[in-house]
Amino acid sequence: MKNHFIYLGLSLLFFSCQVANKTQDLNKKTILHFAVNDDQITDAWKKVLKNRMNSGKLDSLSMVVKPVTREEIAWKNLIASKIQKWNLFRDSLSIPFENISLNDSITILLGYNGRDDAFSYKDKTVCFDVTALYNSYGSADKEVNSNRIDRIFSHEFTHLLSKKWAQKSKLKLQSFKDSVLWECAYEGIGMYRSLSSKWLPVGDSLSATSKRTFNDLYPKFTDNIIRIHSEKDLTTREKKNVHQNLSRGSMKKKWGALPVAVWLASEAKGNDKNLVKWVNKGPSAIVELAEKYLTEENKKAFDAFLMSHKN
Ligand SMILES: [Zn+2]
Repeated sequence: MKNHFIYLGLSLLFFSCQVANKTQDLNKKTILHFAVNDDQITDAWKKVLKNRMNSGKLDSLSMVVKPVTREEIAWKNLIASKIQKWNLFRDSLSIPFENISLNDSITILLGYNGRDDAFSYKDKTVCFDVTALYNSYGSADKEVNSNRIDRIFSHEFTHLLSKKWAQKSKLKLQSFKDSVLWECAYEGIGMYRSLSSKWLPVGDSLSATSKRTFNDLYPKFTDNIIRIHSEKDLTTREKKNVHQNLSRGSMKKKWGALPVAVWLASEAKGNDKNLVKWVNKGPSAIVELAEKYLTEENKKAFDAFLMSHKN
């Protein structure tokens, strides 16, 4: 019976539902839309991918005709089952962003056949790719994936808030340095929301996993942040190297996003109101956080750089 229901859903190939959070705020709505029709991605999905891939790649992705698999449908169903719960997350996710409010209506758009499992589009759309979710995390039915998808939603929803903050604060990124620092801040607070417990501080100390990983990441962080302050000397290739793995690739390589996320967790100490001041500093939070949290040789190098930079 359940399977018949699934395949009936499949044959419709269009899924849209709207759930209002009746207990907290009747105005807040999350609209879920499956952007697949006749075994192909729809124009809505092409639109959100436009700035993420070149037109040749997007054209070939648009041509792919492929039935949605049972595994992909399972991810779609898992996300659909979360909508009401995620609506309830919205107020608490907004706490670090004082005086920033999003449109009451946000959209969760689901596509398939891509590589990025989740991303945000403009200031009111969170996108998930059910193929990429399956390829990255396996079956949607695995218990670990229920909490994981909550964390991924929280990460992407936080990006919507950061974009709104940037807009309201009239943030201008005038240099490569500005854009790197902003990406560290933007992805850092996003990742703060998607960290699994093994990364979170234990009391005032780093967790064993963070400590081990930062032995490798702190030198990269220190070197990159120092480098971007003298960007006139940076070649295009060097800029590309700085950018690489700032927030992409495997978790353990994210030299920018991961340390910032863990430092923010240390600052929050379980109360997200403590993050308001850091969010409001924008990109300049990064140097201050680094000054506070880098250790040993990296701290020495960073302090020496700051001294010489001031003079
Ligand atoms: Zn992100």
